[in-house]
Amino acid sequence: PARAARASWDGVGRLADGHRVKLLANVGSPADARAAVAAGAEGIGLFRTEFCYLSANAEPGEAEQRAAYAEVLAPFAGKPVVVRTLDAGSDKPLAFLPMGAEPNPALGVRGLRVAFDRPELLDRQLSAIVAAASDAGVELSVMAPMVATASEAAWFAARARAAGIPRVGVMIEIPAAALCAESILAEVDFVSLGTNDLAQYVFAADRQLGAVASLNDPHQPALLRLVGMVAAAGAEAGKPVGVCGEAAADPALAPVLTGLGVTSLSMNAVALAGVGAALRQVDLAGCRSQIATAARLSRF
Ligand code: PEP
Ligand code: MG
Repeated sequence: PARAARASWDGVGRLADGHRVKLLANVGSPADARAAVAAGAEGIGLFRTEFCYLSANAEPGEAEQRAAYAEVLAPFAGKPVVVRTLDAGSDKPLAFLPMGAEPNPALGVRGLRVAFDRPELLDRQLSAIVAAASDAGVELSVMAPMVATASEAAWFAARARAAGIPRVGVMIEIPAAALCAESILAEVDFVSLGTNDLAQYVFAADRQLGAVASLNDPHQPALLRLVGMVAAAGAEAGKPVGVCGEAAADPALAPVLTGLGVTSLSMNAVALAGVGAALRQVDLAGCRSQIATAARLSRF
């Protein structure tokens, strides 16, 4: 099936009726980026920059960050890339940034929240990203993880624009952000749904805990409803709404997300051909008609 899928996909995400859905890659290393180009990714939808920080005992300097990011971005010269700013904390603690004990780290100081007390850390990363994108010749967008409110989105957007980022977005992975997508979209150029964390917070089910894994099911109607709300807000604002959580890599769910109005899907390189081929089988009306069925497929 993998071979058949590859044969029927030419590296452009579109439905049977020609409706475009950009198929992008999630990457976290130079090897990921090379694999993504080989698999036909149209761009990068999520560059997890944590790799540069997680093993470091001190904050990596701007020059070091610039070189590390440029190496990941280089295979995508001339193409669109979305770089995510540092998503540390919770399950990804930083050796050089002690956060103090937190009884519920997933609900603690993580993602963009780390930057509120240490904005200079974010500013250094933003300027390294701008320099790396120019070295690599990519079409740059930058987004922040773990944004809860429109004022947080505005705070981030102001800093990112001041650093020279041409397109600024935020991840929608906290239910509050999904519910207020309209006011968040007023502050930024695009949003990207992080369905891994969004599911964790919607179902109050730790994404790392096997015992509650069945609740982290992206077919769940509650999750699909939130995705639909955000996509509708994006359409209203005329701004792109992507999905970069694992849900985007599921060939059975890709038409459903498209039917809900999502404009790009970002996934691990190995999933691209299967998702690309699945989308070629359906038109937009078919995608929309799969929404109700998908919700029924959920196991609960
Ligand atoms: C997500 O939460 O869906 C996501 C894409 O980000 P991460 O998995 O890195 O938290
Ligand atoms: Mg996340």
